[in-house]
Amino acid sequence: MGSNDRKRASAALTALRTKRRLKLVPAGGGMMEALLLALVAQGSSLAAAERALAKIKASVVNWNELRVTQAKEVAALLAGVREAPGKAAAIHDVLSSIFEETHDLEFGFLEGASTAEAKDFLSGLGALTDEMVDEFVLAGRGHFHISADGDVVRVLRRLGVAARSDSPVKFEAALSELVSAEKAYQLMYLAKRLAEGICTAHGPKCPECPVVLTCPSAKKSKDG
Ligand code: SF4
Repeated sequence: MGSNDRKRASAALTALRTKRRLKLVPAGGGMMEALLLALVAQGSSLAAAERALAKIKASVVNWNELRVTQAKEVAALLAGVREAPGKAAAIHDVLSSIFEETHDLEFGFLEGASTAEAKDFLSGLGALTDEMVDEFVLAGRGHFHISADGDVVRVLRRLGVAARSDSPVKFEAALSELVSAEKAYQLMYLAKRLAEGICTAHGPKCPECPVVLTCPSAKKSKDG
């Protein structure tokens, strides 16, 4: 695999993340931190959201204490981010929903789940946008698993990522060599999302695709 393959894989990830505005995945921290950051950062700058989240973390012993903290106090900690009262209420709702269902605010119950299972659980809570759910799952390498199935391989090949293999495990290993394990995970997840309604096996909807301007297969697909 040459440097061109690496460039294509990196470019595909950049295009997918930029177009979906998935820039808020924290480099470290746990799953709940990723989720809260995505929630707090909606409509605000990442820097303001990170500062607010750091204040919140410093003011509570654990996420359960945050769950039972008055929304008014949480809103005060969110000073500087947009719609602080609404976000404080959303934080309370999300923590309460997860706690009521699982009694586990560290997401231990999702350890080893597939990305689809993690997404389904959070989508079912109702208070989170698709983008927040995606950011949570994207932060979850090492916790969640995604397979390089036919959807993933099809979309990545159309995007010009030429990792070659004859099995999902080998494809993922080849992709990880091209970029990094973290980026390979993100690429596969975003490719799977794109495969669901846009980059379908037959008749991909290129005009509606968020990466149509950079996809090397776009014109060919449009022309049939
Ligand atoms: S532009 Fe078309 S072929 Fe390329 S990823 Fe999007 S839907 Fe798939």
